[in-house]
Amino acid sequence: MTAAPSSAAAPAAPITVPVALAERSYHIRIGRGLLAGAGAAIAGLAPGARAAIVTDENLAGLHAPALEASLAAAGIAATRLTIPPGEASKSYARFAALCDGLLAAKIERNDLVIALGGGVVGDLSGFAAAVLRRGVRFVQIPTSLLAQVDSSVGGKTGINSPHGKNLVGAFHQPALVLCDTALLDTLSEREFAAGYAEVVKYGLIDDAGFFDWCEANWRRVRAGGPERDHAVATSCRAKAAIVARDEREDGDRALLNLGHTFAHALERLTGYDSARLVHGEAVAIGLSLAFRFSQALELCPGQDAGRVAAHLAACGLPTRLQDVPGGTGDADAIVEAMTQDKKVRRGALTFILARGIGRSFIAPGIPAETVRDFIARELAGA
Ligand code: NAD
Repeated sequence: MTAAPSSAAAPAAPITVPVALAERSYHIRIGRGLLAGAGAAIAGLAPGARAAIVTDENLAGLHAPALEASLAAAGIAATRLTIPPGEASKSYARFAALCDGLLAAKIERNDLVIALGGGVVGDLSGFAAAVLRRGVRFVQIPTSLLAQVDSSVGGKTGINSPHGKNLVGAFHQPALVLCDTALLDTLSEREFAAGYAEVVKYGLIDDAGFFDWCEANWRRVRAGGPERDHAVATSCRAKAAIVARDEREDGDRALLNLGHTFAHALERLTGYDSARLVHGEAVAIGLSLAFRFSQALELCPGQDAGRVAAHLAACGLPTRLQDVPGGTGDADAIVEAMTQDKKVRRGALTFILARGIGRSFIAPGIPAETVRDFIARELAGA
């Protein structure tokens, strides 16, 4: 882990994190105020290209005008396509409408799609860019904390099917990721906390020092300043390292799913209704459950499982099944929802478990009955 910054430090210079993927390599640039220079950065990347900005209705009035001004100043002609906010936009219908909108805007093979938004905008527009005219380049300008530390990096794009989340998609790496950490100032407390669960995840996977740092600095990450940039950069470095080792999730990349088998089941059981649960909140419960499950299997000290839940709860995140508004159904319903997840191989469940904070590992072949018993004990409050 890199040295932690002091809150008294002057505004930090932008940080560049390389993602090393041979001919698909790109940079993640992180810093406050980067949006103003987006046009120049994009013009350097694709001289003469036109651009289509894909954004959602919440961001259209907040940050799209600044991006448009920056593109215009750099001589880039841009069209804006706006989608409704929320997970429901990752649908076949919205995907088809977006592809047609990009074609109507005459986005050609050498032009660019720019995703300005959270993970929903990034996943949907990245998938459209992957297939439009058999693939056009795209730039991610993530505006939620979750998108800055997770979804904008690594090239997974896609939409949901009635069969489940993210089941239709493509690997399509961006050409550039610009994380302007000042954009997070307009994010709601709830969405900020949800994205923060993914930040904590990187500490829990393999960087206990970063988890310690999070416990000490989370309030300053929320407030902005150098700690926020440090948290985003450390997360992006961690994700970039894993993606560089295993771009298509044949091995190590599955570690990024820590907490996610539980989380995806909870999202399914709450009908992807963001009024009840957003992705990052489901991840916070999933992380807490993954550590308590590891404790129950006598792999992980109870003290570590307690620290994980205590930190997430301190940040305003849910950590127990009982915290899901409207409930989750019984243990059988939860296991059933888990076995529909795409990380299930031949009926056996694959979990990411932990021997302690920063010591996570891939554990295939966990019997569904063992999981069911654990969940039943959790629901009983044992
Ligand atoms: P989101 O895109 O729905 O954004 C959350 C909400 O915050 C939306 O209402 C949005 O309009 C609003 N918002 C975003 N930025 C804002 C800002 N700066 N100011 C004010 N409001 C803002 O959700 P998300 O949490 O960003 O992303 C979740 C999605 O990401 C899920 O669909 C999930 O499957 C996907 N995801 C993808 C990957 C990947 O590798 N591709 C990884 C993790 C998650």
